[in-house]
Amino acid sequence: MEAKKLRYFENINHPVHSEFIKSQNHCVLCDTELEINHVASDDSKTIKEEAFCPQCTLKTRNKIYLLN
Ligand SMILES: [Zn+2]
Repeated sequence: MEAKKLRYFENINHPVHSEFIKSQNHCVLCDTELEINHVASDDSKTIKEEAFCPQCTLKTRNKIYLLN
């Protein structure tokens, strides 16, 4: 299930997928909109994505992207 979700994020430039992503960016527990952070690593080879619910302080996603 998680792998399926991540596949959509890899197609983030596609407008349809973009809309889908927006609809998925809500906390499963309280339906608050998630805060998404993308942080580049020091060597700029990877991007870390974190999704965080400010309401219940739940970190729901943490994914490393390789930039190659
Ligand atoms: Zn929440």
